[in-house]
Amino acid sequence: MWFHGAALLLLLAFAQLVLCAEDYYKVLGVQKTASEKEIKSAYRQLSKKYHPDKNPGDSTAETKFVEVSEAYEALSSAETRKIYDQYGHEGLQRHKQGGGFQSHDPFDLFGRMFGGQGHFGRHSGQRRGQNLELKVNIALRDFYSGKMAEFEWDKQQICEECSGTGSADGHVDTCGVCRGHGIVIQKQQLAPGMYQQVQMQCHACGGRGKTIPHKCPACGGNRVVRKKTPVQVTIDRGAPRGHQILFEGEADASPDYVAGDLFVTLQEKEPSLEEDNPDKVDGTFFRRRGDDLHWTEVLSVREAWMGDWTRNLTHLDGHIVRLGRNRGEVVQPNHVETVKGEGMPKWHEDGDSVYHQTEFGDLYVTYVVVLPDQMEKGMEKDFWALWQKWRGKTGVNLHKDSGRPDKVVLSDEHDEL
Ligand SMILES: [Zn+2]
Ligand SMILES: [Zn+2]
Repeated sequence: MWFHGAALLLLLAFAQLVLCAEDYYKVLGVQKTASEKEIKSAYRQLSKKYHPDKNPGDSTAETKFVEVSEAYEALSSAETRKIYDQYGHEGLQRHKQGGGFQSHDPFDLFGRMFGGQGHFGRHSGQRRGQNLELKVNIALRDFYSGKMAEFEWDKQQICEECSGTGSADGHVDTCGVCRGHGIVIQKQQLAPGMYQQVQMQCHACGGRGKTIPHKCPACGGNRVVRKKTPVQVTIDRGAPRGHQILFEGEADASPDYVAGDLFVTLQEKEPSLEEDNPDKVDGTFFRRRGDDLHWTEVLSVREAWMGDWTRNLTHLDGHIVRLGRNRGEVVQPNHVETVKGEGMPKWHEDGDSVYHQTEFGDLYVTYVVVLPDQMEKGMEKDFWALWQKWRGKTGVNLHKDSGRPDKVVLSDEHDEL
């Protein structure tokens, strides 16, 4: 079959690549400073162009396809791209040997990107488990400063006691009811004299075709157990709300299928003064909108009107943002002040690289002015007297202040209502 030939070619191509690997940026035809978007789009175009399904029997295209995939694999992850930029191919090689590098199958990569099925029949016959999503609540300050966080979840794992056989002594029998097929044929009567044959899953063995005389005590013959399993996630500075981190093949494991992917979704936690705010920072109660932060500050009438006030806001990482006005500087109610660069760090898909410095969104402060509903008697008297004095002296011309025209403008047409 032709795909065996193709697989062999692939192996050869890999060997070649290790010997004389071309610059990955050149392979994709992008600049060294290219964004992840540019890299992605270059890969999309080239991988489609060289895909073996489009170029049957063309070994040059095949080699190109593998090259392009390898280049994308290396440059699409911020971590490996950094290593590649610093240490080149050799550095990546070392990194791969040190583990941590994901599957290195160009067809896998293609499938992931285009949502396609496995190619060359290599995945046929192998069932895949479900993908799982794990939602974790992250405090806003961790989105701000970035963090490595570890969580535990109840992962289904292959039982270690019986190595996934389900048997205490390693003995597994073929099911006598279905004779190992896992299914049985049942006759159903539709009408007198009319029967239908239906395939049903074998009840005796649960469709496995095997029975276990002495069940493993650890898993009770289920071959799998649920165990608390840690997941380590890196929360990038400024990662968007709802950001997903992919762990390939880390979902529930089973002897029956290849584990699906685990997605960890970062949700923003509701702020709580007691639980998550040991440093009592105001920033915990900032509201996030994209890269910007929002805050409401309350001013007294005196402050809003006369000025001469300061506020020290403690930001999410504890640094101080100073707000204030000099004497005579008025703040109108609901005025929104923009504090440049005090928002969230701007997150980039390609991570914090040498190509850019961290930029920040803005902080928007909305001022609310509160009028006192009670005043000390003496104070009320003083204010009253003061107002009376100025009321008498200058008066207030409401019409003039309104800025409306002096004469009523009459239109020629009649008002229809
Ligand atoms: Zn077991
Ligand atoms: Zn059976």
